[in-house]
Amino acid sequence: MSTFLFDDIVFGPIKSRRLGVSLGINLLPKDYKLCTFDCIYCECGFSEKGKSGKIPTVTEYKDSLQKKLEELKSEGITPDVFTFAGNGEPTIHPDFPEIVDFTILKRDEFFPNAKISVLSNSTMLHKQPVVDALKRVDNNILKLDSAIDETVKLMDAPNQKSFSVKNTIELLKQFGGNLIVQTMFLKGSVNGTEIDNTTDTEVGALIDALKAINPKQVMIYSIDRDTPVQTLQKIEKEEMEGIAEKIRKAGFYVSVA
Ligand code: SF4
Repeated sequence: MSTFLFDDIVFGPIKSRRLGVSLGINLLPKDYKLCTFDCIYCECGFSEKGKSGKIPTVTEYKDSLQKKLEELKSEGITPDVFTFAGNGEPTIHPDFPEIVDFTILKRDEFFPNAKISVLSNSTMLHKQPVVDALKRVDNNILKLDSAIDETVKLMDAPNQKSFSVKNTIELLKQFGGNLIVQTMFLKGSVNGTEIDNTTDTEVGALIDALKAINPKQVMIYSIDRDTPVQTLQKIEKEEMEGIAEKIRKAGFYVSVA
């Protein structure tokens, strides 16, 4: 297994297959993953139980972003996007709303044409300040890997006992369509249990959920790097296009990464 962690608060820019030249923002600890999910495909690896570490303070984040933007400006490098991702779920940072506002301010000052994206697993949408902050960014990209609870439990291993797809869909509806839904497709097995979210039943249930949520875009992708569970298969491009076509026929704009 060669999953990895980001060891900076602001890193890159890196070439992202989904977003372009991306300046990464990691609001989580540098030495372990901190997330409300523990996805079987997570590029950061599995959560290490009992480990604790320090998340960056707002001041550390501000200093790190300022320094990086000054560097990029002096080197003539222009990012397409500032992306909140990193070693876990960015919206669990207690100062996420303030951090978003500072990032918008600095984006406008240094690279006004760059977009701000947040890759989130949708588990903190019960917090109104998080929802309001996500509404202020250009691309709030929110995870829904399946519309079937058993599949989400296998794929994403939510640590919130109250987690349910039904509740997640209700929370995603509050964006009034101003969101991008991201869905990972894969096949394989987890501890001997088969998993496949590409079946007609899965895709049909996802389309029904999308009809309720009404996102401006659906971003579908498959495995690209090493995963902590070794018995997973990447879905090849042709099959991904077939899934995309089904979702498009239901009236959605779909991108395949
Ligand atoms: S939501 Fe993202 S960071 Fe969290 S476990 Fe899943 S893939 Fe990893």
